[in-house]
Amino acid sequence: MINGLLTSCDTVVVFITTNGYMNMFIKKNLTTLIQNTIYNNSNLKKRLPLAVIASASLLLAACGPNANETLSSTKPDQYGFTPASEYTVELNNAVLGQLPFENKQDFTDANRGFIATLPEFVVKYSDGETIMDLSDYDFVNGQAPDSVNPSLWRQAKLNNINGLFKVTAGIYQIRGFDLANMTVIEGKTGWIIVDPLTTAETAKKALDFVNKQLGYRPVSTIVFTHSHMDHFGGVAGLLEAAGNDVADIEVVAPGGFMEAATNENIIAGPAMTKRASYMYGNLLPRSARGHVDAGLGKAVPFGTFSILTPTLTVNSDETKIIDGVEFEFQIVSGSEAPSEFTFYLPKMKAYCGAEMVSKTMHNLYTLRGAQVRDAVVWSKSIDAAIETQKDAEIYFGSHHWPVWGQENINEFLVTQRDTYQYIHDQSVRMLNAGLTPKEIAEEIEMPPELAKTFSSRGYYGTAKHNAKAVYQAYLGWYDANPVNLDPLPEYESAAKYVKLMGGAKAVIINAQAAYDKGEYRWSAELLNHVVFADADNDAAKELLASSYDQLGYQAESAPWRDVYLSGAYELRHGAADKVIDLASMKAILLQTPVDKFFESMAARVIGPDAFGEEFTLNINFTDLEQNYVLTLNNAVLRHKLAPKDAAANATLNINHELFIDLVIGVAGVSEVLLSDDLSIEGSTLGLISFFSLLDQPEGVFNIVTP
Ligand SMILES: [Zn+2]
Repeated sequence: MINGLLTSCDTVVVFITTNGYMNMFIKKNLTTLIQNTIYNNSNLKKRLPLAVIASASLLLAACGPNANETLSSTKPDQYGFTPASEYTVELNNAVLGQLPFENKQDFTDANRGFIATLPEFVVKYSDGETIMDLSDYDFVNGQAPDSVNPSLWRQAKLNNINGLFKVTAGIYQIRGFDLANMTVIEGKTGWIIVDPLTTAETAKKALDFVNKQLGYRPVSTIVFTHSHMDHFGGVAGLLEAAGNDVADIEVVAPGGFMEAATNENIIAGPAMTKRASYMYGNLLPRSARGHVDAGLGKAVPFGTFSILTPTLTVNSDETKIIDGVEFEFQIVSGSEAPSEFTFYLPKMKAYCGAEMVSKTMHNLYTLRGAQVRDAVVWSKSIDAAIETQKDAEIYFGSHHWPVWGQENINEFLVTQRDTYQYIHDQSVRMLNAGLTPKEIAEEIEMPPELAKTFSSRGYYGTAKHNAKAVYQAYLGWYDANPVNLDPLPEYESAAKYVKLMGGAKAVIINAQAAYDKGEYRWSAELLNHVVFADADNDAAKELLASSYDQLGYQAESAPWRDVYLSGAYELRHGAADKVIDLASMKAILLQTPVDKFFESMAARVIGPDAFGEEFTLNINFTDLEQNYVLTLNNAVLRHKLAPKDAAANATLNINHELFIDLVIGVAGVSEVLLSDDLSIEGSTLGLISFFSLLDQPEGVFNIVTP
């Protein structure tokens, strides 16, 4: 299975380290320790982390094992996931009485205009691995199992509804083939495609299906609504299915799109990738005790990612005629994504809300880790849409199903707007009253009108963790209690707590008592001390995993569920040795500013190793006619675009694409040695020791154990 990932529907993370590979390359090149096997090895992917890791925020949840077998109500399943406890069953049953499940409007809307779907939707990567197989989710039907919150189950059922749908005359959508939607608008000369999905593989399949069902038309225009990977990553597959020349295609995007799409969160990629694997549950079985949904869509596909440079950038609220269709754009950058627009099609009276609004509470903070989003900007952007979209008869978006009718659209927009504003205002009120993030999360209560609105419920973001995001935005990590200013790290305090509490056995007995009373947050906290004091304590690990099982089963948020269950999975099976196939990212890395590689390199310098070291290196991109001077001093690596420094210790002359190939490991050594696109001048030994100062983060680390 290919694991890795890179994207998030929240943000794109692209992180790169060049150091490991380059280090290896130079050593081999110069010391004749060439081992072609490293590069030609069929196990190449396993070696890639040594070279580079790239990731993007849409963690691509690779398909987990299918576990549709009947679950015993009393025994763990084959992965160790325990049955729902009586407390979990009770809490989940109670949900049935708290929400208006009798309201089936979303199901009506999600099915409205259905044209056709593929009887079997299976998409494979170039190596034959399955990227997405919708039959994995056949078990999501009927009543909610004990081990799934009924509200999340409802969302999972809605996200199971897939195929090609007619939204209105001239507007169609592919839904459920990917995490995101692809919208197809009839232009004068061809299809206007809005958001070509996450991967080339899913996008190709989607457009082929559209052309088969509706009759072939060339693609005249591609519209990227925003800078998150699940809305542009599939463009290469779209071009393949389009069959017409890319030169004839207009590519429309909001201002700042390329910068945001290629750069966002580049530096913290390894950590985000690992964390995203928790958030999207990509290791979990697809089953009633595993992954059931992503909240925002079914799941994140993992395949080939691509990008295309816009030919038409929209920088302000303005009207454009695109292939004969009038688009009224609204810039909403800084709300859900750093670069984003929505648009209104007056002739069809249809409003595309992109991802500014969706059929869930979204994330002010995303659990994979990212900078927090501005709830006020977000809310104001929706408020502006309420004014400008008064005539809209149809809403459609980048995720989920449309809304028909002016009144319904207005109500939807108002509740989305007020959801973010309420969380903001109440969190600020409480932080000004001195409440800490944990206390605010515990206290915040959504107004009944919003709480009973399914589209404002926390299937993706939650009020609890979004409230903490508001605190973070204003006050940062410190809660002002001196005890939290410089506390002992967990691995030290855990051992002391366990000793103080009478030893591991005594703690486990108490944790078991808490577990038996259904106090899973408390049993987890107690057991976390034991596990961090002794990672080999299997009894503590299993009881902690069982506590996480129940917390996951109770969660309404798909990411919360996946986070808890991924923690349980890791406690039982160990941390995954995840690797990313960077070749899948080449098209995007080629568009990533070179600057970003060097910023990433600077953040890999192993400080203490570099104490007292000084080094100057020219990296000369021969095809770009750009030279970067890298200077190491005070254990800080700085770079600048400048002419070659004649006094540099070494110079690496290299072609940009070869540099990317080296980074992602697709170029073989023999190829490189024979290439005219690379040469080294100056101190080769110095170059080797320079690269040895750089860390090689693999993005593989423990989370639930020390
Ligand atoms: Zn998205």
